[in-house]
Amino acid sequence: MFLEPNFRTQRSGWIEVICGSMFSGKTEELIRRLKRAVLANQTVRVFKPEVDSRYGVEKVVSHDENFISSVAIRSSSEMVSLAEDVEVIGIDEAQFLDEELPTICQQLSLKGVRVIVAGLDMDYLGQPFGPVPHLLAVAEYITKVHAICPHCGNLATHSFRLSDAPGRLMLGEKDTYEPRCRQCFSMGNILDFKRNTE
Ligand code: ZN
Repeated sequence: MFLEPNFRTQRSGWIEVICGSMFSGKTEELIRRLKRAVLANQTVRVFKPEVDSRYGVEKVVSHDENFISSVAIRSSSEMVSLAEDVEVIGIDEAQFLDEELPTICQQLSLKGVRVIVAGLDMDYLGQPFGPVPHLLAVAEYITKVHAICPHCGNLATHSFRLSDAPGRLMLGEKDTYEPRCRQCFSMGNILDFKRNTE
């Protein structure tokens, strides 16, 4: 488990990234950290890209329906004016934000803000996704969380897309994506075929 550094004794802010595949518990871990900050009476603001409207635009919700209130933004620069006098910032689904996100996060952390970012590190093709890879390079703390591969029981790092809908902006539920380990991900649809014929 990630143990947060002592916010009160650190003079400057920092960046934490929580990344991993679908169903790895990224949002759950983000919410856990943010709620601990709220309990400590720190001022917290949570953002998510407007494209993510699965559960309404004013909440960050994990798959098991734990949630925290959030502000929907279209670009990462909107956070600068919305984050005045805030001690902790949470950002969910960071892979859908623009390439300016790492710069904005660094500016905010220089002002003393603790910035916690959660997002997919890879898309359904296994490629680095949006601004998340860059954030991993500039963050002080990185937590890579894993799901469990339903085919072999190994740790899952990849998000395999079960449907053949075009584009990578699709947001997933259990019937659209499944987490897979590297090996089962590389086998692609062969595994689906085997499962459907068993
Ligand atoms: Zn596997």
